[in-house]
Amino acid sequence: MATTTDPASLDGAQLTRAQRAALPISADVARALAEQHGVCIRPLAMRRIDTTTGRVDIVPVPCGSTRADQCRPCAEKARRLRMAQCRQGWHLDTEPVTDRATPSEEHKELMAVRADLLAAYTECKTHGDEITCEQIADSVAEVDTELRALGVRGRLTPLDPPPKPVKRSTRRRQDALDLPRRPVEKRTLGRVFAGRYRPSTFLTLTLDSYGRVDNDGAAVDPDRYDYRRAARDAIHFPALVDRFWQNTRRCVGWDVQYFGTVEPQKRGAPHFHAAIRGAIPRAELRAITAATYHQVWWPAHDQLLYAGSRLPLWDTRAKAFTDPDTGTPLPSWEQACEQLVEPAHVVRFGTQVHVKGILGGTEEANRHIRYLTKYLTKSVGQAAGLSEHATDSQRDHAHRLHAELQITPCSPRCPIWLLYGIQPQGARHSMTPGQCKGKAHKMEHLGIAGRRVLVSRKWSNKSLDDHRAERGEFVRQLLGQAGIQPSHGPQDGPYRWERPAPNDPDIPPRPLLLLHAVAERQRWKAEYAAAQLAIIGPPPPDPTPSAIEEAA
Ligand SMILES: [Zn+2]
Ligand SMILES: [Zn+2]
Repeated sequence: MATTTDPASLDGAQLTRAQRAALPISADVARALAEQHGVCIRPLAMRRIDTTTGRVDIVPVPCGSTRADQCRPCAEKARRLRMAQCRQGWHLDTEPVTDRATPSEEHKELMAVRADLLAAYTECKTHGDEITCEQIADSVAEVDTELRALGVRGRLTPLDPPPKPVKRSTRRRQDALDLPRRPVEKRTLGRVFAGRYRPSTFLTLTLDSYGRVDNDGAAVDPDRYDYRRAARDAIHFPALVDRFWQNTRRCVGWDVQYFGTVEPQKRGAPHFHAAIRGAIPRAELRAITAATYHQVWWPAHDQLLYAGSRLPLWDTRAKAFTDPDTGTPLPSWEQACEQLVEPAHVVRFGTQVHVKGILGGTEEANRHIRYLTKYLTKSVGQAAGLSEHATDSQRDHAHRLHAELQITPCSPRCPIWLLYGIQPQGARHSMTPGQCKGKAHKMEHLGIAGRRVLVSRKWSNKSLDDHRAERGEFVRQLLGQAGIQPSHGPQDGPYRWERPAPNDPDIPPRPLLLLHAVAERQRWKAEYAAAQLAIIGPPPPDPTPSAIEEAA
């Protein structure tokens, strides 16, 4: 069954109001049943056409949400996949191999086409031929999709090269000078102790204190809690974590790999948990953490220059935002950055560093994997405890932090810069001063806008899709060994998928679709159980009892 993350699969979208009213009980029952069986509760009905036999089926495609409040079964499935990914890389005892496929003729041809298009684009751009430029951009996007489908990874040259970064003086280098620096060896595995133990590491990094908080994480004295620093630290936390791994590799001298998650603490500040492959001495990790910092070389943004109804105005002729009183254009991003003498902000970790050595295959390792992935099905706000049970002071605290985040720029392109009298990068007339759509500013995210799961490149050498396919393959092989023919398998198809219109007569109402999925699921589980019974052989390659859950 294919998966999708199409956001269009809205609850009850397939039903008319009359149908919905007529089905109140059965809809609830079907939904509860689906949830109980781990089947997506808001699937998208897709028309699947077997292009060999011509057979047409309406198939419920899971919504693929990672949020339990949207779809618990899908979110749980995604979390279990992350657990499998974490488990596979943590205690590897052989180097993961990267075999790069040699480029095929098809690859080379497409790359040549792409190079020609790129040249044509540059040509048209210098002549100001915007319409042709747009057409070429569309073609390049198509070629890129094809290249990706053929398995090409890595960065493809962008049509418009980003502006050259401002040359930094050596003063701006962020080397952690007080750490030893070793050449980084090409290995990702840790040491073996006593000839057989290969311990790995569990690490937790937190941010500094911004003021005292109560047991629920709310500021004891909100007027003295440093919300500004809290907001900026949260926004720049991913860059700090990046810097930490760079320093770690240089300091320990090998290519350290990690599976990490960024989660909010109750006070709303992000912290970072990581499973690290191999053992690193506690004292060394502490020293690296203490020496790591990230400088934000942005213009100062401490004084709001514009607010309320007095805001910079777009001047069509100058193609720039201007002061509403004098009409003079505000400094551009580049201009504002030229004169910087100090960073606008510096982020560091707090003093609390938690390090623990963990042996692979132990209950302790499993417990830490569960802990690492525990909050992945929740939004940042929910994970920080901002539910309906939150106390008044918790809510006030979150609102204060949120208010600060609304005047904290999230990137060089953020329209909030206009409030500080600076034109953001790429300023254009459609920008509203102070209004940014970036996730960082939203209450739900509390400044934590980046990815929640950070996995280093050589962790397991598999993408999430590879892991997903692997789980499916495992079950298929098991069924094959037991001589059980799955009801539809690789011998069917190829399929063509169609998105039906909501009123198409062959689309069953949502409850029926759910019941269909539940039935399918039960049959699958029965097939799997039969296969397990039929085979008395090696146990599944993975210690989780829920292999079928992860595969299904
Ligand atoms: Zn779902
Ligand atoms: Zn922003």
